[in-house]
Amino acid sequence: MKRIGILGSTGSIGTQTLEVVRNNPDDLTVTALAAGTNVDLLEKQIREFRPKIACLWSEESCKDLRTRIADLGDTEVVSGMEGLIRIAEYPGADALVTAIVGMIGVRPTLEAIKCGKDIMLANKETLVTAGHILMPLARERGVSVLPVDSEHSAIFQSLQGEDPATIDRIILTASGGPFRGKKREELTGMTAEDALKHPNWSMGRKITVDSSTLVNKGLEVMEVKWLFDVEPDRIQVVVQPQSIIHSAVQYVDGSMIAQLGLPDMKLPIQYALLYPDRKPMPGPKLDLYDLSGITFEKPDMETFKGLGLAFDALKAGGSLPTVYNAANEKAVALFLDHKIRFLDIADLIEKAMAHHKNIADPNVDQILATELETYDYLRTLSE
Ligand code: NDP
Repeated sequence: MKRIGILGSTGSIGTQTLEVVRNNPDDLTVTALAAGTNVDLLEKQIREFRPKIACLWSEESCKDLRTRIADLGDTEVVSGMEGLIRIAEYPGADALVTAIVGMIGVRPTLEAIKCGKDIMLANKETLVTAGHILMPLARERGVSVLPVDSEHSAIFQSLQGEDPATIDRIILTASGGPFRGKKREELTGMTAEDALKHPNWSMGRKITVDSSTLVNKGLEVMEVKWLFDVEPDRIQVVVQPQSIIHSAVQYVDGSMIAQLGLPDMKLPIQYALLYPDRKPMPGPKLDLYDLSGITFEKPDMETFKGLGLAFDALKAGGSLPTVYNAANEKAVALFLDHKIRFLDIADLIEKAMAHHKNIADPNVDQILATELETYDYLRTLSE
């Protein structure tokens, strides 16, 4: 029985992780849960899964939760960053699912690794900004970092039994998002509501906007580098609008091994949670007779310049990926609040990157300071 903790249990990945746990009662149990502000859903989850410890970000929500679950008497409730770290370190969990959104995941993820816990990683912002710290630490502590993101799970699955030294390149597929095929002039009037209509995947709000700008693919390119130790010029982004081929590996002999499936995050989540086992999964399965075709396109990096900026940030390294990520987080929040326009998101990232004085090999404090400086800089630009 694997005992897991989940950071971000009330979100899109968090709730799907709990569904996977529900479907595998003999293999998985939940002992620690954390969320931001959603007291109602966290209360329901505690009543169903009976974790030993739970965390809500704000002290006020945490007090409310304590009162609500007083009748249970066996779940400790904690709050804030200290609380998230308690969840990450909780000795009654063997592994941590990082399904929290944003760079808030950096410290708890590193603390969990220090305690020797395997990480099922969805929180891409942590890997993007602190991959140079996280991956060596994981190797040193002998813990596995198992990808939850569907593309990285596909790459990981395509690498099973192969020698990583024989990788020629990684083919990272992208759906192209809701604005695929549109040019800059057509994008000026696009609203948050338009960007939130993803053609294939149902996800949290921030990542759905990131898919519409191709910044999500940019963040994924950076994840590929850290998870699989592949340099940016050997990562090819290919648009595959049906989201059936989730990514592929091409080997030195020209063979390409890909993973295919329906666009359902429960599949990569279950693969990470039960790895190295494969177990049946309820629900529909991919049937090739149902497909009218699988098509491929080159990404339009001129219109969606956020993708090219990600390659620039990754090649420069240091604190620049943090600037890319933090500028995007802030810009997406402003866009969702209808304070800036769609095309402003990539423009703000570009300006923040040009303004930043890069720090080589930043430590965690420098990464978090860079995040705050980038937020401040964007505030001055958008006021
Ligand atoms: P959601 O917005 O749906 O969920 C975010 C979760 O994080 C919620 O549980 C939220 O709690 C919690 N949270 C936010 N802030 C805090 C905080 N300060 N303290 C504690 N918990 C907090 O996001 P997604 O599930 O879509 O994405 C999560 C991560 O997974 C992101 O990094 C994303 O890029 C990545 N990812 C997501 C995919 C998807 O299909 N959704 C696919 C691949 C990767 P509350 O509900 O209370 O606010």
